[in-house]
Amino acid sequence: MEKTVLIVEDERAIVEILKFNLKKEGYRTCEALDGDAGLALARSADPDLILLDVMLPKRNGFEICKVLRAESNAVPIIMLTAREEESDKVFGLESGADDYITKPFSMRELMARVKANIRRRIIDATGGKGAVMTHETLALNPASCAVTKNGAPVELTQKEYDLLKFFMSSPGLVFSREELMKRVWNYEFYGDMRTVDVTIRRLREKIEDDPGQPRWILTRRGVGYLFSES
Ligand code: CA
Repeated sequence: MEKTVLIVEDERAIVEILKFNLKKEGYRTCEALDGDAGLALARSADPDLILLDVMLPKRNGFEICKVLRAESNAVPIIMLTAREEESDKVFGLESGADDYITKPFSMRELMARVKANIRRRIIDATGGKGAVMTHETLALNPASCAVTKNGAPVELTQKEYDLLKFFMSSPGLVFSREELMKRVWNYEFYGDMRTVDVTIRRLREKIEDDPGQPRWILTRRGVGYLFSES
């Protein structure tokens, strides 16, 4: 089945080149030129991935991202940030985006990221064979992609879920950020290590009793991260 990519971008020239390249790769596209239209389409068109510009008329990309996540919409979101500014990148991830790419971007890099993010979602949608994984009060059900803590549902974005599933399937093993990028994000060559750090911070805030003193997702300074064994 064709996958749909929603493009939310107010620069027509960028929309056109994205559409052209996505179609060439076999994706369906839909597009919105301002933030309100983008949010409406994100809700109604049920896209498989959203390419989301930050600076938009009516409603900016950060807001759209936050609203969708607040509505428990786990669609993969790649933010298109115009500036090299540190704060923009981190703010995008804090808003619930799965990744960001800085303009001007290479089409090759963008397509690799689109593919990696959509591929991960497909694997999960068909991953009904895995048994429920539990760790203390935490449970992850690969068949339904549901996570609970003390029996109560925990709302995770796609990448947070992917990361938790990866960790829970390899407790006690330390992974470098590069390795997590490769194995959870499917990025061989691209990607910014801050993406890993911010996603881990977000995940800790959602599952740990005290995110500042995590019990489950541990840091090995200078080495990487691991999921606690006991
Ligand atoms: Ca813009």
